[in-house]
Amino acid sequence: MQSSYDAVIIGGGHNGLVCAAYLAAAKLKVLVLERRCVVGGAAVTEEFHPGFRNSVAAYTVSLLNPKIIRDLDLSRHGLHIVERRLSNFLPLPDGQYLKVGAGKTEQEIAKFSARDASRLGAYNERLGLIADVLRDLVLERPPNLTAGGWLEALPELIRGARLTRRLSVLDMRARRDLLDLFVKSAGDYLDTWFESAPIKAAFGFDGIVGNYASPYAAGSAYVLLHHVFGEVNGKKGVWGHAIGGMGAITRAMAQAALARGAEIRVGTAVREIQVSAGRATGVVTEKGETILARSVVSNLNPRLLYGSLLDPNVLDESFRERMAHWRCGSGTFRMNVALSELPDFTVLPGRVLAEHHTSGIIMAPSLAYMEEAYHDAKAGGWSKRPIVEMLVPSTLDGSLAPPGQHVASLFCQHVAPQLPDGASWDTHREEVADVMIDLVNSHAPNFKAAVLGRQIMSPLDLERTFGLIGGDIFHGAMSLDQMFSARPMLGHGDYRGPLKGLYMCGSGTHPGGGVTGAPGHNAAREIIADFKRKRLK
Ligand SMILES: Cc1cc2nc3c(=O)[nH]c(=O)nc-3n(C[C@H](O)[C@H](O)[C@H](O)COP(=O)(O)OP(=O)(O)OC[C@H]3O[C@@H](n4cnc5c(N)ncnc54)[C@H](O)[C@@H]3O)c2cc1C
Repeated sequence: MQSSYDAVIIGGGHNGLVCAAYLAAAKLKVLVLERRCVVGGAAVTEEFHPGFRNSVAAYTVSLLNPKIIRDLDLSRHGLHIVERRLSNFLPLPDGQYLKVGAGKTEQEIAKFSARDASRLGAYNERLGLIADVLRDLVLERPPNLTAGGWLEALPELIRGARLTRRLSVLDMRARRDLLDLFVKSAGDYLDTWFESAPIKAAFGFDGIVGNYASPYAAGSAYVLLHHVFGEVNGKKGVWGHAIGGMGAITRAMAQAALARGAEIRVGTAVREIQVSAGRATGVVTEKGETILARSVVSNLNPRLLYGSLLDPNVLDESFRERMAHWRCGSGTFRMNVALSELPDFTVLPGRVLAEHHTSGIIMAPSLAYMEEAYHDAKAGGWSKRPIVEMLVPSTLDGSLAPPGQHVASLFCQHVAPQLPDGASWDTHREEVADVMIDLVNSHAPNFKAAVLGRQIMSPLDLERTFGLIGGDIFHGAMSLDQMFSARPMLGHGDYRGPLKGLYMCGSGTHPGGGVTGAPGHNAAREIIADFKRKRLK
């Protein structure tokens, strides 16, 4: 049986849902098809141990764009985001620790370096200036490189000129900073500012989140920047927690899309995109159902879209070849644990809830440690001294665990997306999970014994469960060659695929990964414009 839509969206990740809500608000007939039995993609909450729920993959919120929260009225659909009581806590060797948080950081840094403490204000101001510009660009579509003549190029040149005008608000010093942040390593950038290892570790951690690289790898400063352009409840650069976990965000988005008239079907994987006379005309589901649509919108990692859902013959060979080399694999290993009690840190003892328990607890004391973890993982698949950020969201959200008990998210960075010598993650996942638990236990000796249950997501699990190729949390590395107009490829940085009627709305498009909603928002705007200009015909 065949049915027909204006737009069929493949994938009900948060970007697919945002895109659906905007398209439906523009009175288009929209259908979202999600392979899993639940919408939300990498932003979902599940019960992983009896009585204990947590965000399965994405675990903390900041990048979600405030315009999207407003437009989709997500608060009315139940979204409530709370701030951490402290941003970050770093337990360190030799009985020391560093706390990072509003009104606190300077005096904390002064414990390690008076010079660093005196430079903090200028660092925040200059990084904040660049973050403001970037924040402005996330809802813009990048200028697209066109293959035709002047007629096609002119609108893109104008777009480029507008962008240049935007950047002209930055003075020369800030423009130099911008260049640094785009091309330098996070380590080199931070070395120009600070001398003490703990503060560089606290800030540099953002440069390796989802980035399987040394903090001294060129381009990692951009990844750092990507993680500071967010905000929570109007407070810039702050990270928070969605009550009910990340699934509360996508549940609200789904409700917003449904309220605007979109249809959502879960448990419906798409097998193939139908193409006729060079244009996408609909999809065929795994169950063999054909659904016709005037436009097909993919929420998938671009390599998954072009490598699995399209007949290779409908794509240009150079396009196919380039897409096959789209770099994926963020080096991420993710765990959730159910805890009988709060972790009791050696450097800051206490099992009674304190502000550091509500923070992002970064267990990696220096950039040198992070670099070593990367090289270890490259050589052996994972590091014996890995990098773990732990959050205990139940300290802010009583709905996640039984009273007096807790859930913790362990975001573990620097494991190899593919293990050396063809070894399988299925063989090593438990062993690596033990390494992660042992690391936390080395900082909080009651931790291991407090673990009542655990959920493990190796890179392979992330790929199988969510369609994240190589476990890549961002749908593709956030390196300069894969950003902005080049996300996912020069000539297709405008959310339009290489076939008429085919669009992309996922994290593999500008501005990239994270629970931002921006790719979904931007793609919807382009699709609506094409419908209005009757470009789809
Ligand atoms: C472990 C981990 C931790 C992270 N932590 C954070 C964090 O704390 N904060 C943050 O902001 N970001 C975080 N991220 C990144 C963020 O979660 C992702 O970038 C973002 O959720 C991706 O959203 P998306 O809608 O673009 O794609 P996805 O969420 O990947 O959604 C794509 C959807 O497509 C579906 N699909 C795949 N194939 C098919 C098919 N053939 N047919 C139908 N449906 C299909 C999938 O099931 C999925 O639901 C994290 C990601 C991971 C994996």
